[in-house]
Amino acid sequence: SQASLPSSVVPGDWLGILGGGQLGRMFCHAAQSLGYKVAVLDPDEHSPAGAVADLHIQAGYQDEAALARLSERCKAITTEFENVPALSLETLADNVRVSPAGAAVAIVQDRIQEKAFIRKAGVPVAPYVAVRQSEDIVTAPDTLFPGILKVARLGYDGKGQARVSSRAEAMAAFEGFQQAECVLEAMLPLASELSVILARGYDGKVALFPSAQNEHRDGILAVSTVDDSLLDASLAGQAADAAVSIAQALEYVGVLCVEFFVLRDGSLVANEIAPRPHNSGHFTMNASASSQFEQQARAMAGLPLGNTDSLCPVVMLNLLGDLWFAENSGTAREPDWAGVLAIPGAKLHLYGKAQARPGRKMGHVNVLGATLAEARVRAQQVAQILG
Ligand code: ADP
Ligand code: MG
Repeated sequence: SQASLPSSVVPGDWLGILGGGQLGRMFCHAAQSLGYKVAVLDPDEHSPAGAVADLHIQAGYQDEAALARLSERCKAITTEFENVPALSLETLADNVRVSPAGAAVAIVQDRIQEKAFIRKAGVPVAPYVAVRQSEDIVTAPDTLFPGILKVARLGYDGKGQARVSSRAEAMAAFEGFQQAECVLEAMLPLASELSVILARGYDGKVALFPSAQNEHRDGILAVSTVDDSLLDASLAGQAADAAVSIAQALEYVGVLCVEFFVLRDGSLVANEIAPRPHNSGHFTMNASASSQFEQQARAMAGLPLGNTDSLCPVVMLNLLGDLWFAENSGTAREPDWAGVLAIPGAKLHLYGKAQARPGRKMGHVNVLGATLAEARVRAQQVAQILG
């Protein structure tokens, strides 16, 4: 009931976040511009969010004294880090409001539970089996090959995944993962990939951003494109409905992303859930009336959610550490930022990471245009300058 809703946390108060990566950094910027103070808990002394937070508590996610300090300082706490111990969220929740809840995060951080939960919420997933022991591979249906073996926990950006064309290969991959719990899922014929990002408040109200069409390279997001003209309206509607069903079933509060596959037969399959703002939602920083990070602050604070209308078509280009090395010689170099900034509509976001490494997310560029065609031409120019 309305009466049991916590009172809102207002600008000037402290918000806390577990995790100090780029998502935490962009959250800090958004929350601070609303007038909040932000405390970041992250063990890394050079964490991108720690560098911009009002307070960086440099400690592990299970450090009880650090968690106590965070909950004393802050009126509301969230996470930017999917693998934060769910128990830490639950501990914090004894003293301060925490969103999303530890129980929701616990489901999402285990692919076995996540897939079962999505299916129970009435949303299709890829055919799969849970693999807890090698016997599970022996008894897996033939229809799962060729497939992908994914570790159930701690995988990201295609890490902890092996494409397997046979049972023998799956067995070898399972050994390679030290028999950590996995899911084995069928390799699906993808026509495209999309994601839906939404925010859900303590009052159950939901605000959806338009879905993004995503291109991955080597298992890592490379490009997200957002424009009304891009997606079939019925497909976009299905994805939005599915994401809302999942958020409701999780009794979720905060920002949530659901990644989908569009199969060649036109059907839609949910792939995974992220209990936080998502790389494919970075377009909202320049092309939406509110950003996904502003929504995260609003939702956790119990404030009205922001308007999610699109301002213009946008192409988001991820900047991976590879760009800091010349293609053939591999010598270190600094990308041509002046060249990028000379392109109209190119909005540069760098995460302040000192060390570039291949595959490491260093920043992104949102390329805006009056039309999708214009955004694409400009994005092409940006890519050329960076290439
Ligand atoms: P991560 O946690 O690394 O993002 P995902 O499960 O999202 O893991 O997989 C990364 C990418 O690999 C997906 O975006 C997609 O391009 C591809 N992929 C994953 N599962 C499948 C599948 N069952 N069939 C086809 N492609 C897949
Ligand atoms: Mg993914």
